[in-house]
Amino acid sequence: MQDDSYRHKGLRRKLVDSLRKKGITDERVLAAMDAVPRHFFLDSAFADLAYEDKALPIEREQTISQPYTVAFQTQLLEIKKRDRVLEIGTGSGYQAAILGKMEARVFTVERQEQLFYGAKELLAELGFTSVRCYYRDGTKGLREFAPYDKIIVTAGATEVPQTLLEQLKIGGILVIPVGRRSQKMLRITKKSETEFVEEDFGDFRFVPFISGTESK
Ligand code: SAH
Repeated sequence: MQDDSYRHKGLRRKLVDSLRKKGITDERVLAAMDAVPRHFFLDSAFADLAYEDKALPIEREQTISQPYTVAFQTQLLEIKKRDRVLEIGTGSGYQAAILGKMEARVFTVERQEQLFYGAKELLAELGFTSVRCYYRDGTKGLREFAPYDKIIVTAGATEVPQTLLEQLKIGGILVIPVGRRSQKMLRITKKSETEFVEEDFGDFRFVPFISGTESK
């Protein structure tokens, strides 16, 4: 395990200040991002880049989302302590760690077996006991623990999966990037079993949301 030096802490503080300047206002999100060492979730070759506001490569040709995107999606979720949150696309485990730090109860699913094992091990080692990892196809959600207060998708979908809407509580929020070449960040609030309010928060770019699982 890499250590969390004063230099890393200083770089992280600067990153958080820059996120505040870019319009992130939820202080609980900012505090979580200040507390979680992002460089732990990257290959040591990228440790020096961990506190730049950039997406970076992880294994299996996937990416850890840009810090601004993590902050933005988390802010849209309006996380409250003890919320049951489903994340689709564990990847490095960083987004799940941020949600865990905010005292949510996190269920995170990943379709790449190698990434699932890596994140599960790392999150356990870092003491994130409220984060549970599953090796699954997230297009199906995670039915056995539904319904959720919040659902976050961290891969670009071509449409909103009906299954995810079904697995939300009434009053629950789904944050999902939808589109082909680039994605619109949608926040969908479930008002009743049949009524949903959709808000569009502009363009982002994600790796694709793909159905089925992949083993090593
Ligand atoms: N939240 C991650 C971002 C990883 S990139 C982080 O903080 O690092 C998106 C991830 O979604 C990739 O790891 C990809 O394998 C995964 N993914 C794509 N489609 C999926 C699906 N149907 N089910 C589960 N995971 C999926």
